[in-house]
Amino acid sequence: QALLNIESVSKSYTGKAKALEGVSLTIERGQFVSIIGSSGAGKSTLLRCINRLIDPTSGRVEFDGKEVTKLGKRELRQIRRRISMVFQHYNLVYRSTAIENVLQGRLGYKSSIAGILGLYTEDEKAQAFGILDQLGLAEFAYRRCDQLSGGQKQRVGIARALVQDPLLILADEPIASLDPKSSRAIMEHLRWAADDLGIACLVNLHQVDYAIEFSDRIIGLKDGKLVFDGTPAELDAKA
Ligand code: ADP
Ligand code: ADP
Repeated sequence: QALLNIESVSKSYTGKAKALEGVSLTIERGQFVSIIGSSGAGKSTLLRCINRLIDPTSGRVEFDGKEVTKLGKRELRQIRRRISMVFQHYNLVYRSTAIENVLQGRLGYKSSIAGILGLYTEDEKAQAFGILDQLGLAEFAYRRCDQLSGGQKQRVGIARALVQDPLLILADEPIASLDPKSSRAIMEHLRWAADDLGIACLVNLHQVDYAIEFSDRIIGLKDGKLVFDGTPAELDAKA
């Protein structure tokens, strides 16, 4: 059974042309898939339809055997725990330390009282530190995030995504604000999450070269329509 099944998903924002039109795709566990397309192609809308940050106008999304498009609030919250997001602008709490940002990811939606009060067990702290260490951030764990470089911030973003023990990471333009060296490091960390941790990654990119180098599969979106779905080699052969 596939991890994620998207069937004929369309999305219209009010008073606008369709942002997505009849998009279907399937993603296996541990697969690394890039979505490429120009600005406005619908990449971000597609990612947000998966965890229902926005509701598709029509179509079905199935994740880990459950139909996401039909879930109530409570079940949706459970599904979202297994789907982490990584953002272009990191979305960190900048006056908090790296490890505090990661710990907040662990508690999911900042809903628990321990999370609100910032009370964590030694085990939780050790786990969060361990993940930062794996991403090469041990010496920055207790540094405030506003003192980190862009690449370091994004590594914190990935650590926060990983601590949730996700089955799927949705990364929306994770390297669009980074220099080439940091971009490469971030792509390598995501690739590692797929290969070594078995976490499927769905990554929005507008740089085709990174998609070709790092993905198992590439999806091309244009004007809300899926115009390509194949391996990097197949994309190369088309160009
Ligand atoms: P991409 O991520 O590929 O840049 P988006 O999914 O952000 O594409 O946008 C697809 C289309 O939907 C664009 O035409 C954009 O202007 C429109 N759009 C995106 N978000 C909204 C919104 N919240 N309200 C209205 N239109 C939107
Ligand atoms: P880059 O390496 O891409 O320049 P920055 O670290 O400068 O990344 O920041 C990228 C984005 O993160 C900015 O658009 C800004 O809104 C936000 N940001 C960065 N630092 C802070 C901060 N200390 N407080 C609030 N937002 C911040």
